[in-house]
Amino acid sequence: MKKWIFSSALFLCASFSNNPIHKHNCADHNHPQMMIDSSALHAPKVLDPSDSRFVDPDTIQADYLAVKPMQIDGFEVDSLEKMEKAFEVLEKVVNSKEFKNRVINFKNDTGVRSFASNQGLSNEKIYSIFMSGREILQQDTPHEMNFFLKLYYKRYSKVIGWTNGDINTININWKFFKNFKPNDVAGNLAHEWTHKIGFDHRFAAEHDSAPYAIGYIVREMGKRYLKGEELY
Ligand SMILES: [Zn+2]
Repeated sequence: MKKWIFSSALFLCASFSNNPIHKHNCADHNHPQMMIDSSALHAPKVLDPSDSRFVDPDTIQADYLAVKPMQIDGFEVDSLEKMEKAFEVLEKVVNSKEFKNRVINFKNDTGVRSFASNQGLSNEKIYSIFMSGREILQQDTPHEMNFFLKLYYKRYSKVIGWTNGDINTININWKFFKNFKPNDVAGNLAHEWTHKIGFDHRFAAEHDSAPYAIGYIVREMGKRYLKGEELY
């Protein structure tokens, strides 16, 4: 039971949109998400190279994207170690060719090659924006995923973390973080950071949105990386 609660809350994220039109509040989840959020159920699909819509990843240029911790508050030695591992996983995954392919050739649940809540942007454009490393609030630090993290503890909360469009800080609830593997943390960082570059989801959890789908991709690839698999 405990495990189910944990997994259902995995990406119960929290963000206010940067776009006032789509302003919503996923920080104040007063109700539990009644869905099982296992990676097996939410494995983002990718187009087969034989598909006529397939885009050769080699035709899309991207510079190396470095993970850069800016301010890390409230972490003890063990949790900091886990976070550092998560940073390593995240940087490894986002710079891989597989990640590039899975974002560019992502297809949603209905088979369409586009993310939900994509603001009219193609997968390629979303990948390029992601890899440019320019957060809405940190436009002058390209090629970096800048992280301002704060660990807090709220025992009776179902929110695993929260942020909003006006602040850099991503607040992470220790209640969930303590059970996370580094790849779960990496997936969650990818989700939250995708909000930081301006993408949103209309509801929790819009699995085909860029924050969710990219978070799942990072989490799944990160799991394999932690098992010793080489990522390309
Ligand atoms: Zn979110």
